[in-house]
Amino acid sequence: MPLVPLDEARDHVLASCQVLEPVTVALAGALDRAAAGLVTADACVPPFDNSAMDGFAVRSGDTVGAPVTLEVVGTLAAGQAPEVEVGPGQAVRIMTGAPVPAGADAVVMVERTVASDDGRRVEVDGEVAAGTALRRAGDDLRPGDGVLAAGDVLTPGRLGVLASLGVAEVAVFPRARVGVLSTGDELVEPPAPLRPGQIRDSNRPTLLALVAAAGCEAVDLGLVADDEAALTEAFHHGVATCDAVVTSGGVSMGDFDLVKVVLDRLGDMRWMQVAIKPAKPLAFGTVGGTPVFGLPGNPVSSMVSFELFARPALRRMMGFPPAVADRPAVPAVAGEALRRRPDGKTHFVRVIASMGDDGRYRVRSAGGQASHQLGAMAAANALAVLPDGEGAQVGDVVDAMLLGGGAVG
Ligand code: AMP
Ligand code: MG
Repeated sequence: MPLVPLDEARDHVLASCQVLEPVTVALAGALDRAAAGLVTADACVPPFDNSAMDGFAVRSGDTVGAPVTLEVVGTLAAGQAPEVEVGPGQAVRIMTGAPVPAGADAVVMVERTVASDDGRRVEVDGEVAAGTALRRAGDDLRPGDGVLAAGDVLTPGRLGVLASLGVAEVAVFPRARVGVLSTGDELVEPPAPLRPGQIRDSNRPTLLALVAAAGCEAVDLGLVADDEAALTEAFHHGVATCDAVVTSGGVSMGDFDLVKVVLDRLGDMRWMQVAIKPAKPLAFGTVGGTPVFGLPGNPVSSMVSFELFARPALRRMMGFPPAVADRPAVPAVAGEALRRRPDGKTHFVRVIASMGDDGRYRVRSAGGQASHQLGAMAAANALAVLPDGEGAQVGDVVDAMLLGGGAVG
């Protein structure tokens, strides 16, 4: 089977995954979702001119020749509508956020004043210009200003902006419900002891965590034996209840790789040998319209395959634009030789990336690079991308795909 170039495999996967239908949610449920449409301001924020300081609202002209003494004709707290006007020679005691009363055109901060004991007069110790310590209506947002565009991530700050406009609900792309199942007769879960030939199912907890960390809702579809009926039942259930299904194992060339048999019967799958190492085998397709990712069984391969194919696709389904959907790739200096042999594949080396004193990333191997050695993958915070060839010498610059979560510093 000819090797499929990475870009071709990735483009095929991305093109087959549709963006989910938007939903309207309360702001409290919108954190980290992608906005589904445009939101524009329909009012001014702040809604009225108000004081930026605790102090006295004055007519700036009255402070010419300060120190001057003004008559205090009222007090305004935040939240109160002004009932008094500031006439010539007068002032109103005012708190931060209170509306500026008619007549006043500046606020003198309390630190620049001395009030009489009875509170009826205030001495202002310096001149203030018109507009001092005032926050104007609309100087944050005006009607028609764009607040959100489709694909914008609802960060805490953006939720705050919506709240400042009185918006209670927002249209977002939902979390994808992503089912994860493991396949293989050799796999057992605690508390069952390991019998000869058996191993632990490490992929399912790992993939469930990767799915959740990608911003999806992770659905545990369990551990399924290498049995046609059981696999058929599991995939039927998965595609009926989830927006996408991620499975690991059973997609390579072994005698008991029944995932292939079953998925070929149920759906429209493409079986690929991608020109990468690790994670060469990839099955991807749709079953009843639901994307199914058949990732390789080796623990490192399943993680790398998830990073290269499933994560970008799932994040696009959730409306994130490419810059947000994809892991960032940065140039990084090889801190040690990252050797490899030409084999027609792009290699993804598990590395630890750290920021050097020169402001450039440096990478060094995170440990054993075989596809069953999860320890190095666990220690890594990046994948160094080595194009086909001899690899990198010390000091060469390579692309590093930052995986997030680790200590990149
Ligand atoms: P397969 O593609 O099913 O032949 O699996 C390839 C290798 O990955 C074998 O060594 C499997 O035992 C191993 N493997 C498959 N699934 C898992 C899993 N869920 N957890 C840990 N190892 C697995
Ligand atoms: Mg298997």
